[in-house]
Amino acid sequence: MAHTVTLISGDGTGPEITEATRRVLEATGLEFIWDVQPAGAETLEKCGTILPDAAIESIKRTGVALKGPITTPIGKGVRSANVALRKKLDLYANVRPARTYQGLRSRYEQIDMIIVRENTEDLYAGVEFQRGTPEHEEIVETIARTTGTRLDADSAISIKYISVMASRRIVRFAFDYARANGRRKVTAVHKANIMRFSDGLFLTIAHEVARENPDIQFEDRIVDNMCMQLVQKPELYDVLVLPNLYGDIISDLSAGLIGGLGVAPGANVGSECAVFEPVHGSAPKYAGQNKVNPMAMMFSGVLMLRHLGERAAAYRLESALASVIAEGKFVTYDLKSRPDDPTAVGTSQVADAIIERMQHF
Ligand code: NAD
Repeated sequence: MAHTVTLISGDGTGPEITEATRRVLEATGLEFIWDVQPAGAETLEKCGTILPDAAIESIKRTGVALKGPITTPIGKGVRSANVALRKKLDLYANVRPARTYQGLRSRYEQIDMIIVRENTEDLYAGVEFQRGTPEHEEIVETIARTTGTRLDADSAISIKYISVMASRRIVRFAFDYARANGRRKVTAVHKANIMRFSDGLFLTIAHEVARENPDIQFEDRIVDNMCMQLVQKPELYDVLVLPNLYGDIISDLSAGLIGGLGVAPGANVGSECAVFEPVHGSAPKYAGQNKVNPMAMMFSGVLMLRHLGERAAAYRLESALASVIAEGKFVTYDLKSRPDDPTAVGTSQVADAIIERMQHF
């Protein structure tokens, strides 16, 4: 059966890595019907929107998208297409695996973690008050009246809010993901000792959900301790579940632990749709040069295959990626020991090597 998937190439280096990824996915032997949807710098120029409604409608229809990075223009008042996509499709879970592969330049071996980040609330909800505005004055007065603390008039305020509903669904997602992927432990990360109400609520709900899932181990860690633990003994951790801000920071930390952005995949998942994309951005300075690493997007393709229930194809593609990385020959500049290594190959040659290697798995 063919899988219908929305394909958004994005801009910058997006089209090159998307094409490379499309080729390796098709080389698994599966059949795909790609619903190609433009978005990014070109549609902004042509149609005045960075994320056309047609792209959103397509994802709602297909339920699955493979997406390249999209540049967020600075100072033009354009909202990030990536944030808009998450909001419009209620993609509440951001899933970022962090796994070491032999051949990657990492100080560690045997890291194999899944970071599950809540994607919709916390400090990222955009509830903010600019100093000097009447709204700011009003909120300062309300805070003084209700808490006895008067904030400085020249302060700026961002609200952190955490809800029962969002906490419950993200922690349930983490447990369900752990079970579906043969994982043994979920660690909830928080700062409930200081933010007793917001992070306290997240932690209480995490414990509640853990009691519903006795087959999976559960523990919690305070976020600062978590950072130290990840640097000292990352091999102890399996699935981490975190509110939005900590999730953002810890997932980049984890990408750094395993060898960088060139191999860090991601998925944004909601109850109706899922969008698979690399963690990195559009790297515009390399656009059109057949230079950047397509592997982060290819690993995102592996996640997509698993989501589609195509475990055998996912295994073949991941094994071919691992083999090409371990060999270290047909890899882009970022995976060489020096970025100016003249033996580094280009984006499309990486795809060729992976397609060839898949025949062995
Ligand atoms: P970036 O990830 O594009 O680049 C950061 C660094 O990593 C650069 O040195 C770049 O050359 C390198 N790099 C990135 N991807 C690489 C790859 N595949 N192979 C080898 N090297 C790679 O981050 P940035 O420069 O901060 O962002 C550029 C644009 O992308 C911005 O407009 C940003 O908003 C956008 N962005 C989009 C997404 C997304 O679409 N999900 C995510 C992050 C950033």
